[in-house]
Amino acid sequence: SKDQWEIQHADLTLGQEIGSGQFGLVLEGRWGEKKVAVKMIREECMSEEEFKDEANVMMRMSNPKLVQLYGVRTQCSPMCLVFEFMENGCLSEYLRARKGELSQETMLGMCLDVSEGMAYLESSNFIHRDLAARNCLVSKNNEVKVSDFGMTRFVIDDQYTSSQGSKFPIKWSAPEVIKYSKFSSKSDVWSFGVLIWEVYNEGRLPYENRSNVEVVESLNMGLRLLKPRLASDAVHLLMEWSWKEKPEDRPTFALLVHELAYLSDQ
Ligand code: ADP
Repeated sequence: SKDQWEIQHADLTLGQEIGSGQFGLVLEGRWGEKKVAVKMIREECMSEEEFKDEANVMMRMSNPKLVQLYGVRTQCSPMCLVFEFMENGCLSEYLRARKGELSQETMLGMCLDVSEGMAYLESSNFIHRDLAARNCLVSKNNEVKVSDFGMTRFVIDDQYTSSQGSKFPIKWSAPEVIKYSKFSSKSDVWSFGVLIWEVYNEGRLPYENRSNVEVVESLNMGLRLLKPRLASDAVHLLMEWSWKEKPEDRPTFALLVHELAYLSDQ
């Protein structure tokens, strides 16, 4: 039933603010014995009814490389979402804070972690729609996990959800997403290629000084992000493969896991 995911008020203790995002404030907290992150949903930012219909699907998604959604508190206003706590925060910040310190092995390991979480989503026929380093989090043990999967479907903000909007993540989006809003696991693979680029550029923003219009033009001309200085030829090949124009020419996440695991063992 729907209620099985309801977090009981008495079991949840809220602590200090740790961030804010698309849906509002994020607090640290405790849920029974567990340390948790609690997203306080601002009503005007989310289609709550649609989210509630999907919440059970999202909570059944469970994998060591995904940030677990433990439950929801719908019987309060604002509604709260309760997640696994990730001590080391978001991946893009983590990378920026450790510039010059990350080994090849660590960077490859981060990409492998994300590919594993994504291979699980792919096998569950679940599309992320907004994969990027900013939507991955880092655990106490420095494992990287995928977060915020599927959540853009519930955002109320045209600037964010329309590919014409100013907040739309064009720089992570496959051509068919930009042109026809055609999302798939293969469009997630494109975004994953950009995430590899972010990891090997230590958290730099892709196409830093270019507008969305300029990015779309250069993609249309067949241009792609350049090989990061720290990336090996083998890693660069995986990025380029993820950015094939036709979705069917891109690898699956299952294949990317295989390739990255092979490179990790070298
Ligand atoms: P939104 O999805 O609403 O845009 P984010 O997921 O970007 O919000 O969260 C905003 C910030 O809160 C993140 O950058 C991160 O610092 C912190 N945060 C979010 N989720 C967690 C979590 N599970 N564990 C620890 N910190 C988190």
